[in-house]
Amino acid sequence: MIFLGPPGAGKGTQAQILEREHGVHAISTGDLLRRNRAEGTALGRAAEGYMDRGELVPDALILAMMEPVVRAAPAGVLLDGFPRTVAQAEALDALLAQCERRAVAILFEIDLGLLEARLVGRWTNPRTGRVYHDVFAPPRVAGIDDDDGGPLIQREDDEPETIRKRLRVYREATAPLVTYYDRAGRLQRLDATANVESVTHTIEGLVGPESNAA
Ligand code: ADP
Ligand code: AMP
Repeated sequence: MIFLGPPGAGKGTQAQILEREHGVHAISTGDLLRRNRAEGTALGRAAEGYMDRGELVPDALILAMMEPVVRAAPAGVLLDGFPRTVAQAEALDALLAQCERRAVAILFEIDLGLLEARLVGRWTNPRTGRVYHDVFAPPRVAGIDDDDGGPLIQREDDEPETIRKRLRVYREATAPLVTYYDRAGRLQRLDATANVESVTHTIEGLVGPESNAA
Protein backbone atom coordinates (compact mmCIF):
# COMPACT_ATOMS: atom_id res chain seq x y z
CA MET A 1 0.00 0.00 0.00
CA ILE A 2 1.30 3.41 -0.97
CA PHE A 3 0.39 6.75 0.55
CA LEU A 4 0.48 9.30 -2.24
CA GLY A 5 -0.01 13.03 -1.79
CA PRO A 6 1.75 16.35 -1.34
CA PRO A 7 3.99 17.19 1.61
CA GLY A 8 1.83 18.06 4.61
CA ALA A 9 -1.24 16.12 3.44
CA GLY A 10 -1.10 13.94 6.56
CA LYS A 11 0.50 10.74 5.22
CA GLY A 12 2.98 10.34 8.08
CA THR A 13 0.33 11.09 10.70
CA GLN A 14 -1.94 8.37 9.33
CA ALA A 15 0.90 5.89 8.83
CA GLN A 16 1.80 6.29 12.51
CA ILE A 17 -1.80 5.75 13.59
CA LEU A 18 -2.08 2.58 11.48
CA GLU A 19 1.17 1.35 12.99
CA ARG A 20 0.05 2.08 16.54
CA GLU A 21 -3.54 0.92 16.29
CA HIS A 22 -3.46 -1.81 13.65
CA GLY A 23 0.13 -3.10 13.76
CA VAL A 24 0.71 -2.07 10.15
CA HIS A 25 4.38 -2.12 9.10
CA ALA A 26 5.05 1.38 7.71
CA ILE A 27 8.18 2.59 5.96
CA SER A 28 8.81 6.30 5.39
CA THR A 29 11.56 7.15 2.92
CA GLY A 30 11.89 10.62 4.46
CA ASP A 31 12.51 9.06 7.90
CA LEU A 32 15.00 6.56 6.43
CA LEU A 33 16.90 9.38 4.74
CA ARG A 34 16.90 11.55 7.87
CA ARG A 35 18.23 8.59 9.88
CA ASN A 36 21.02 8.12 7.32
CA ARG A 37 21.89 11.80 7.66
CA ALA A 38 21.94 11.63 11.45
CA GLU A 39 24.25 8.62 11.27
CA GLY A 40 26.47 10.30 8.69
CA THR A 41 26.29 7.42 6.17
CA ALA A 42 27.43 7.84 2.55
CA LEU A 43 23.77 7.86 1.49
CA GLY A 44 22.92 10.49 4.10
CA ARG A 45 25.75 12.72 2.91
CA ALA A 46 24.75 12.27 -0.73
CA ALA A 47 21.08 13.06 0.04
CA GLU A 48 21.39 16.04 2.36
CA GLY A 49 21.87 18.80 -0.21
CA TYR A 50 18.80 17.73 -2.18
CA MET A 51 16.69 17.47 0.96
CA ASP A 52 17.74 20.88 2.28
CA ARG A 53 16.91 22.49 -1.06
CA GLY A 54 13.50 20.79 -1.14
CA GLU A 55 14.42 18.72 -4.18
CA LEU A 56 13.96 15.01 -4.69
CA VAL A 57 16.91 12.76 -3.97
CA PRO A 58 17.92 11.14 -7.32
CA ASP A 59 16.04 7.97 -8.26
CA ALA A 60 19.20 5.82 -8.33
CA LEU A 61 19.97 6.58 -4.67
CA ILE A 62 16.36 6.06 -3.57
CA LEU A 63 16.03 2.79 -5.47
CA ALA A 64 19.31 1.44 -4.08
CA MET A 65 18.01 2.26 -0.59
CA MET A 66 14.51 0.86 -1.13
CA GLU A 67 15.13 -2.33 -3.07
CA PRO A 68 16.38 -4.41 -0.10
CA VAL A 69 13.82 -2.77 2.19
CA VAL A 70 10.90 -3.70 -0.08
CA ARG A 71 12.24 -7.23 -0.61
CA ALA A 72 12.39 -7.78 3.14
CA ALA A 73 9.03 -6.15 3.90
CA PRO A 74 6.05 -8.23 4.99
CA ALA A 75 2.82 -8.45 2.96
CA GLY A 76 0.58 -5.45 3.61
CA VAL A 77 3.53 -3.10 4.10
CA LEU A 78 2.72 0.61 3.89
CA LEU A 79 5.08 2.84 1.92
CA ASP A 80 4.95 6.52 2.88
CA GLY A 81 6.78 8.90 0.56
CA PHE A 82 7.80 6.30 -2.01
CA PRO A 83 7.44 6.16 -4.97
CA ARG A 84 7.65 9.85 -5.81
CA THR A 85 8.46 9.68 -9.53
CA VAL A 86 7.15 7.57 -12.40
CA ALA A 87 10.58 5.91 -12.67
CA GLN A 88 10.37 4.91 -8.99
CA ALA A 89 6.83 3.56 -9.48
CA GLU A 90 7.93 1.48 -12.47
CA ALA A 91 10.88 0.10 -10.54
CA LEU A 92 8.62 -0.75 -7.58
CA ASP A 93 6.14 -2.53 -9.85
CA ALA A 94 8.95 -4.58 -11.39
CA LEU A 95 10.30 -5.48 -7.96
CA LEU A 96 6.91 -6.47 -6.57
CA ALA A 97 6.07 -8.50 -9.69
CA GLN A 98 9.09 -10.68 -8.94
CA CYS A 99 7.47 -11.71 -5.67
CA GLU A 100 3.92 -11.80 -7.10
CA ARG A 101 2.79 -8.78 -5.17
CA ARG A 102 1.33 -5.49 -6.34
CA ALA A 103 0.95 -2.00 -4.98
CA VAL A 104 -2.27 0.00 -4.56
CA ALA A 105 -2.14 3.74 -3.94
CA ILE A 106 -4.22 5.87 -1.62
CA LEU A 107 -4.24 9.49 -2.72
CA PHE A 108 -4.48 12.20 -0.06
CA GLU A 109 -6.40 14.91 -1.92
CA ILE A 110 -6.00 18.43 -0.56
CA ASP A 111 -5.86 21.95 -1.94
CA LEU A 112 -2.15 22.82 -2.09
CA GLY A 113 -2.96 26.23 -0.58
CA LEU A 114 -3.73 24.56 2.77
CA LEU A 115 -0.36 22.89 3.11
CA GLU A 116 1.89 25.75 4.14
CA ALA A 117 -0.05 26.23 7.40
CA ARG A 118 0.23 22.52 8.13
CA LEU A 119 3.97 22.42 7.45
CA VAL A 120 5.08 25.59 9.25
CA GLY A 121 3.22 24.36 12.36
CA ARG A 122 4.65 20.82 12.23
CA TRP A 123 6.75 19.56 15.14
CA THR A 124 8.52 16.20 14.98
CA ASN A 125 10.11 13.79 17.41
CA PRO A 126 13.48 13.23 15.69
CA ARG A 127 13.96 9.97 17.59
CA THR A 128 10.74 8.28 16.42
CA GLY A 129 9.41 10.43 13.56
CA ARG A 130 6.10 11.07 15.41
CA VAL A 131 4.54 14.31 14.17
CA TYR A 132 2.47 16.97 15.89
CA HIS A 133 1.06 20.34 14.93
CA ASP A 134 1.06 23.33 17.22
CA VAL A 135 -2.64 24.03 16.44
CA PHE A 136 -4.15 20.93 14.77
CA ALA A 137 -2.46 18.15 16.77
CA PRO A 138 -0.63 19.66 19.75
CA PRO A 139 1.42 17.60 22.20
CA ARG A 140 0.27 17.66 25.85
CA VAL A 141 3.22 19.97 26.69
CA ALA A 142 4.45 22.34 23.96
CA GLY A 143 7.77 21.21 22.48
CA ILE A 144 7.76 17.86 24.36
CA ASP A 145 6.89 14.44 22.95
CA ASP A 146 3.94 12.72 24.67
CA ASP A 147 5.60 9.29 24.46
CA ASP A 148 9.25 9.70 25.42
CA GLY A 149 9.21 13.13 27.10
CA GLY A 150 12.09 14.32 24.88
CA PRO A 151 12.26 17.52 22.82
CA LEU A 152 10.39 18.04 19.54
CA ILE A 153 12.01 19.85 16.64
CA GLN A 154 10.84 21.74 13.57
CA ARG A 155 12.23 20.39 10.30
CA GLU A 156 14.57 22.75 8.47
CA ASP A 157 12.79 22.06 5.17
CA ASP A 158 9.50 23.25 6.75
CA GLU A 159 10.18 26.94 6.13
CA PRO A 160 8.10 28.87 3.60
CA GLU A 161 10.55 29.11 0.70
CA THR A 162 11.52 25.42 0.84
CA ILE A 163 7.86 24.45 1.27
CA ARG A 164 7.00 26.29 -1.97
CA LYS A 165 9.85 24.50 -3.73
CA ARG A 166 8.66 21.11 -2.44
CA LEU A 167 5.12 21.81 -3.63
CA ARG A 168 6.45 22.70 -7.10
CA VAL A 169 8.45 19.47 -7.15
CA TYR A 170 5.32 17.58 -6.09
CA ARG A 171 3.28 19.06 -8.96
CA GLU A 172 5.97 18.35 -11.55
CA ALA A 173 7.48 15.01 -10.51
CA THR A 174 5.01 13.24 -8.20
CA ALA A 175 1.51 14.32 -9.31
CA PRO A 176 1.88 12.27 -12.57
CA LEU A 177 1.69 9.18 -10.35
CA VAL A 178 -2.00 9.90 -9.85
CA THR A 179 -2.60 9.11 -13.52
CA TYR A 180 -0.12 6.21 -13.38
CA TYR A 181 -2.06 4.38 -10.65
CA ASP A 182 -5.51 5.55 -11.74
CA ARG A 183 -5.07 4.18 -15.28
CA ALA A 184 -4.02 0.86 -13.82
CA GLY A 185 -7.17 0.82 -11.64
CA ARG A 186 -5.00 0.92 -8.53
CA LEU A 187 -5.89 4.33 -7.05
CA GLN A 188 -8.23 5.22 -4.23
CA ARG A 189 -8.82 8.81 -3.15
CA LEU A 190 -9.56 10.35 0.20
CA ASP A 191 -10.40 13.84 1.39
CA ALA A 192 -7.26 14.88 3.27
CA THR A 193 -8.77 18.20 4.37
CA ALA A 194 -10.90 16.36 6.94
CA ASN A 195 -9.69 16.07 10.53
CA VAL A 196 -7.21 13.39 11.58
CA GLU A 197 -9.85 11.05 13.04
CA SER A 198 -12.09 11.15 9.95
CA VAL A 199 -9.16 10.51 7.65
CA THR A 200 -8.20 7.48 9.76
CA HIS A 201 -11.78 6.26 9.59
CA THR A 202 -11.81 6.62 5.79
CA ILE A 203 -8.56 4.67 5.45
CA GLU A 204 -9.88 1.90 7.69
CA GLY A 205 -12.84 1.63 5.32
CA LEU A 206 -10.60 1.49 2.25
CA VAL A 207 -8.13 -1.02 3.62
CA GLY A 208 -10.44 -3.87 4.46
CA PRO A 209 -9.26 -7.43 5.05
CA GLU A 210 -10.14 -8.19 1.41
CA SER A 211 -7.58 -5.61 0.23
CA ASN A 212 -4.99 -6.92 -2.21
CA ALA A 213 -2.37 -4.36 -1.30
CA ALA A 214 1.31 -5.28 -1.36
P1 ADP B 1 3.02 14.34 5.36
O1 ADP B 1 3.59 13.07 5.99
O2 ADP B 1 1.99 14.05 4.31
O3 ADP B 1 4.08 15.28 4.89
P2 ADP B 1 2.22 14.96 8.10
O4 ADP B 1 1.48 13.74 8.52
O5 ADP B 1 3.60 15.16 8.65
O6 ADP B 1 2.21 15.12 6.50
O7 ADP B 1 1.29 16.21 8.49
C1 ADP B 1 1.73 17.56 8.28
C2 ADP B 1 1.26 18.42 9.45
O8 ADP B 1 -0.16 18.53 9.42
C3 ADP B 1 1.63 17.87 10.82
O9 ADP B 1 1.95 18.95 11.66
C4 ADP B 1 0.35 17.14 11.28
O10 ADP B 1 0.22 17.16 12.70
C5 ADP B 1 -0.73 17.98 10.63
N1 ADP B 1 -1.88 17.18 10.17
C6 ADP B 1 -1.87 15.90 9.69
N2 ADP B 1 -3.11 15.50 9.35
C7 ADP B 1 -3.93 16.56 9.61
C8 ADP B 1 -5.35 16.78 9.46
N3 ADP B 1 -6.15 15.83 8.96
N4 ADP B 1 -5.84 18.00 9.82
C9 ADP B 1 -5.02 18.96 10.31
N5 ADP B 1 -3.68 18.81 10.46
C10 ADP B 1 -3.15 17.62 10.12
P1 AMP C 1 9.34 13.63 3.53
O1 AMP C 1 9.76 13.30 4.92
O2 AMP C 1 8.52 12.57 2.89
O3 AMP C 1 8.69 15.01 3.46
O4 AMP C 1 10.67 13.71 2.66
C1 AMP C 1 11.68 14.65 2.97
C2 AMP C 1 12.65 14.78 1.81
O5 AMP C 1 13.31 13.52 1.59
C3 AMP C 1 12.03 15.14 0.46
O6 AMP C 1 11.83 16.54 0.30
C4 AMP C 1 13.10 14.59 -0.50
O7 AMP C 1 14.23 15.44 -0.56
C5 AMP C 1 13.54 13.31 0.19
N1 AMP C 1 12.76 12.12 -0.24
C6 AMP C 1 11.91 11.37 0.54
N2 AMP C 1 11.38 10.36 -0.19
C7 AMP C 1 11.86 10.49 -1.45
C8 AMP C 1 11.68 9.77 -2.67
N3 AMP C 1 10.86 8.70 -2.75
N4 AMP C 1 12.33 10.21 -3.77
C9 AMP C 1 13.16 11.26 -3.72
N5 AMP C 1 13.38 11.98 -2.62
C10 AMP C 1 12.75 11.61 -1.48
